Amino acid sequence: MELLKQRILQDGQVRQGGILKVDSFLNHRMDIPLLRAIGQEFANRFAGEQVDTILTIEASGIGVAAITSLYFQEVPVVFAKKTQSKNLDGALYTAPVHSYTKGVDYTIQVAQQYLKKGDRVLILDDFLANGQALQGLLSIVEQAGAVAVGCGIVIEKGFQPGGAMLRERGVHLESLAILSSIADGQITFA
Ligand code: 5GP
Repeated sequence: MELLKQRILQDGQVRQGGILKVDSFLNHRMDIPLLRAIGQEFANRFAGEQVDTILTIEASGIGVAAITSLYFQEVPVVFAKKTQSKNLDGALYTAPVHSYTKGVDYTIQVAQQYLKKGDRVLILDDFLANGQALQGLLSIVEQAGAVAVGCGIVIEKGFQPGGAMLRERGVHLESLAILSSIADGQITFA
């Protein structure tokens, strides 16, 4: 997706530890016209798929998922929570996830009432690195007896193993920008 790649080149900042910071348009301040274009592009990439629910993970996936829903007949968006809360009661689906950016393990949680057997679920997230977040979300879809129609990623770090691992598993994975390297502060696309 050319518009996204141009924006990454213009405003992305490479940080220590192989992290790309995109706070000015995706992870902190959200550029709504860009998010609309992202939503439209996901609709093109998954055209013909029936989607009943979009599933993502807090916090950065929420904006992308909410706007993308507008291009999928405004289906509900469910976001997995990363922390315990008194508001999150009742039966839960849970999965362990290791955070790439924070270096900690946590348990993602989704209330069972919001994912039903047979639901066709599109999973979305902002970044794909080692694939931990997507694996956790796929596990939750499986626990619910729902069907993952595919995974949509805004920025895939192609130099980390998550994308290859998921494609080998047969997951329909669509990444709108795939980075081949961010070494020495130089951003290149696959
Ligand atoms: P994974 O679970 O695939 O290893 O990592 C994906 C998750 O880690 C995403 O949900 C995203 O929030 C975060 N992440 C991984 N790499 C980066 C990065 O380079 N920049 C930012 N902003 N987030 C990242």
